[in-house]
Amino acid sequence: MADRHKLYKKVLDRAPFGTLLFAYGVCIDANNRALQILKCQRSEIVGAALSEDQTPQSASVEQLKQVIDKLQQDQLSGILWRSENILEEDEIVVSQGPVESDGSLDSSDDVLSITLYPLPALAHMVVKEFSTVATVAADQAELAQPVAAAAETEVATEAEPEAELEQDREQDNPPEPVASPTQQSERDRYETLSGLPVSPRLIHSIGDYLDNPQSDTACGALLLIDLDHFNSINESLGKAVGNQILERAAETIKGLCTDNMEMDQVAGDSFLVLIKNIADSAEQAREASLAIANEIRCILTRPFFTENGEVSVTASVGISVLYAGLYYASPEVLGTAEQAVQQAESAMFEAKRRGRDNVVLFDSQITRQARQRINMQSSLRKAVANQEFDLYVQPQVSTQTGDVVGGEVLLRWMHSGQAQRSPADFIPVLESSGMIVDVGLWVIRTSCEYLRNMLDQGLWTPDMQMAVNISPKQFHDPQLIKSLEHSLKSYDIRPDMLTLEVTETLLIDDFESVVDKMKKIRNMGTRFAIDDFGSGYSSMIYLKRLPLDILKIDREFITHLNSDKETLGLVEAIMMVAHHYGLDVVAEGVEKREVLEILRGLGCEKYQGAHFSMPVSLDKFQRLLVA
Ligand code: C2E
Ligand code: CA
Ligand code: CA
Repeated sequence: MADRHKLYKKVLDRAPFGTLLFAYGVCIDANNRALQILKCQRSEIVGAALSEDQTPQSASVEQLKQVIDKLQQDQLSGILWRSENILEEDEIVVSQGPVESDGSLDSSDDVLSITLYPLPALAHMVVKEFSTVATVAADQAELAQPVAAAAETEVATEAEPEAELEQDREQDNPPEPVASPTQQSERDRYETLSGLPVSPRLIHSIGDYLDNPQSDTACGALLLIDLDHFNSINESLGKAVGNQILERAAETIKGLCTDNMEMDQVAGDSFLVLIKNIADSAEQAREASLAIANEIRCILTRPFFTENGEVSVTASVGISVLYAGLYYASPEVLGTAEQAVQQAESAMFEAKRRGRDNVVLFDSQITRQARQRINMQSSLRKAVANQEFDLYVQPQVSTQTGDVVGGEVLLRWMHSGQAQRSPADFIPVLESSGMIVDVGLWVIRTSCEYLRNMLDQGLWTPDMQMAVNISPKQFHDPQLIKSLEHSLKSYDIRPDMLTLEVTETLLIDDFESVVDKMKKIRNMGTRFAIDDFGSGYSSMIYLKRLPLDILKIDREFITHLNSDKETLGLVEAIMMVAHHYGLDVVAEGVEKREVLEILRGLGCEKYQGAHFSMPVSLDKFQRLLVA
């Protein structure tokens, strides 16, 4: 119960609206937001009586008391309160209601709850209410980590139960591991799940390799080589022979190591080998590490001669591919050096389970994902070098006149003359690898070239606007403003013909510096649109503080507008607030005439979508302008 009360308090304190509790006409509590709105201290409001009060109170508190009085006199559920004395001169909806049963007080006629909804926050709440789809997606993203961690143990859990793994280790290990003096002197070794002591030096080397990739497609590998049935060899042939076998194995592996490799004898009969920069793509890294592991396995299993005659051992090898390049961009996908060791160990146990004398590559959902991404990353590198990109244009149409009044340029990755892969898939890879900066500059320059081309043909008029998507990395590029100016100048394009579309993700960190940079760009004349509005965390409070011209409502809310009443309410609310802040609204994803009719009715200025035209090549776009 106490916890519930705490939770309730916490929720109240973080709420975007203010709440005040009155018992018997005296204020007994107020959340932080209420204090903010009323611009007063807790001590000024808590204890204040609704009836005539001798103690002087701040202007906002005095006014609030009058508002509450009116609410009660007229039996209203809500009232709009405008005042200079409250936060940022916002308009506040004041409403009264019974106290929540979860609250600290029981419902009673003598207890009154007053809620202060700043108009933007109210609209924000409406958005939140309706954008559960987006919230679910965000929740899943947060969950991705624990889920991924579970997937990492996939091989191990599928392979063998813990007890059996331990038994396997006991069987394969000599009772007293033979260790070199240097190994014995090393302290604080990292221990794997089955107790293999890994030297801090190797853990450091792996971590260092992951942290400092040579390129964003560099891949390495970690091999765990474990001799099979070493225990029984030791028992049947004696310790002396056992030691000879271990020495020879260590020498053999060491002999195979080149400059980019590093070996650690983690236990008497177990060796870890780190191979750096084995390949430049995930597929090649898998192939190369399998080849090397098999070579090592074959060389180790060559029979050799001792006083007791011919002896041969086999080895089981587990491999964990190190997607070092990708690690840099998304460490959360790949985990740590310790996790790499665990993966190699899991794969090694799988090799044992498959009858020993085997090589197994660790695989899981995450590494599959990582592999796909790093493969795409290396194809994208080539695509950038070979200029495999094209720029399509989607017309923006006036809802009132039906005329094309502008367009949005959209990147296409061409493959044998066709745009095949979806930008939704490859843009995030361009973004995480940083390639988006160069590609984005090319997009800006090419857009200006398109505009010049159309201006010269008399197809483009000064009141038309071309929209360009700017990703967060590109926005933060220190060269952005310079290159933008340069492109505009080179093609003699007026800055106000360009609109830069940014998304809310840009605002997550460093709000102030983002606003500063936006203002600088906007002072040049270039306009700003907030893209995909409604899909993110959509704070309408931000709308007021951002230097914006246009709000684009996310496609998700538009496509089924004609058949979804709740979404309609949301779109109406967004539109209302956007217009309140002087923004034009562009709806995207308009596929049906019915939806267009609704949007026109709501006063939406422009739209994009299949109903008029999907994105097309420049040629086709120009034909649409003529038509
Ligand atoms: P976006 O900025 O929201 O672009 C609108 C997307 O909606 C485009 O997808 C467009 O083809 C699609 N679309 C428009 N109308 C309709 C419709 O009626 N029905 C359907 N089903 N889809 C419609 P596209 O071209 O696949 O682009 C996906 C995303 O990739 C873009 O979403 C944008 O975030 C990103 N993107 C595309 N080009 C660039 C670029 O040059 N730079 C950056 N940074 N991002 C880009
Ligand atoms: Ca866009
Ligand atoms: Ca969008």
